[in-house]
Amino acid sequence: MFDALADRLESAWKKLRGQDKISQSNIQDALREVRRALLEADVNLQVVKEFISEIEAKAQGAEVIAGVRPDQQFIKIVYDELVQVMGETNVPLAQAENKPTVVLMAGLQGTGKTTATAKLALHLRKLDRSCLMVATDVYRPAAIDQLVTLGKQIEVPVFEMGSDADPVEIARQGVERGKAEGVDTVIIDTAGRLQIDADMMAELIRIKQTVEPDETLLVVDAMTGQEAANLTRTFHEQVGITGAILTKLDGDSRGGAALSVRRISGAPIKFVGVGEKVEALQPFYPDRMASRILGMGDVLTLVEKAQEEIDLADAEKMQEKILSAKFDFTDFLKQLRLLKNMGSLGGIIKMIPGMNKLTDDQLQKGETQLKRCEAMINSMTPQERKNPDLLASSPSRRRRVAAGSGYKEPDVSKLVSDFQKMRSMMQQMGQGRFPGMPGMFGG
Ligand code: GDP
Repeated sequence: MFDALADRLESAWKKLRGQDKISQSNIQDALREVRRALLEADVNLQVVKEFISEIEAKAQGAEVIAGVRPDQQFIKIVYDELVQVMGETNVPLAQAENKPTVVLMAGLQGTGKTTATAKLALHLRKLDRSCLMVATDVYRPAAIDQLVTLGKQIEVPVFEMGSDADPVEIARQGVERGKAEGVDTVIIDTAGRLQIDADMMAELIRIKQTVEPDETLLVVDAMTGQEAANLTRTFHEQVGITGAILTKLDGDSRGGAALSVRRISGAPIKFVGVGEKVEALQPFYPDRMASRILGMGDVLTLVEKAQEEIDLADAEKMQEKILSAKFDFTDFLKQLRLLKNMGSLGGIIKMIPGMNKLTDDQLQKGETQLKRCEAMINSMTPQERKNPDLLASSPSRRRRVAAGSGYKEPDVSKLVSDFQKMRSMMQQMGQGRFPGMPGMFGG
């Protein structure tokens, strides 16, 4: 399920991969892709707009965590937002203090309302909550038979008064019966129509006013896509819902409904139907659903582990680079930024034994020096960053970098030669030959 959405998001992320920071423009590209993905998945347009603008705000506000690839960070932002839209955690079915708990099932015909009624009863029975199901759909005699048959199958009693009685009266008496028999939960199956109509709504409202349910659950067919949004809005505005059951998630549904329902009603999706059998009901978990929508089996773990794992991998890679002389200006810049992220240079240097005698003036100079380095490296081409020798051998390249960064050619020249010296020193250290650095490395 959700294949199409997963594919689209996957291609959105591919676009982001390989870029070294989340910038406003590459977020715009990715956001456009995400927007298209969600729309193609039949998420309601308004929901998509709000979702996108929230992701945008979060992505732009977020600093790129050192060592985390921008696409991974973006995955986390999209994932977090998806989870939030769908409601953070699973919200269990209400349980009334005064028994019985009354659950009213609402929804269009064919969405799986009657099946969901039986599924819910079976689910509760397994939790040792006794149930009574009430059949109020008098317009389709087959509907009453269907519930009675399901009741036999799962060994849950069904209250019915045939097809000549008033649905409101059936509901009222059904709850009375449940009370008299001391059952834990009464689940009322109601009539659906193929489309929303005024009579159906009026009857539902009367039943609701009469039995005052603890839960009014809207049953939504996940296959209906965009329509799920309109349906949710209408039922919520006219009847008021406390939750939803999303059915037919075992089919090749587009997933958009999951996002829309919660967002539009504010009511949580409590269960999902994943098959025709009465056992095929599962609690709804927003985080799992988000993972499925994103098409990544274990995105949760991935996202949570991302930072430490990538930090580790990055540190190892950096060490490898240093030892194999592949350490270049890009790596150097990364290290500079790490230093900057860790707070002021002064604070760090003062923690190093033997370095705490530096004056504030000297430290200030160090910080300024860092900024200069960064500005100059930023003006280099990717090739120059990779291969500092290009700069060492070309005065015109150095002049261009100087002009771009606002410094002079000798400054660039000094940066390049210092960098080369540092790099060869690091290599020697990597090979076990420690050049004379009194006091600093204990050798
Ligand atoms: P109602 O008219 O809303 O009461 O819908 P029903 O409960 O009669 O279900 C309509 C059809 O959808 C039936 O064929 C059910 O077997 C089927 N159905 C219900 N829930 C699911 C589900 O979660 N998955 C699948 N694949 N089919 C379902």
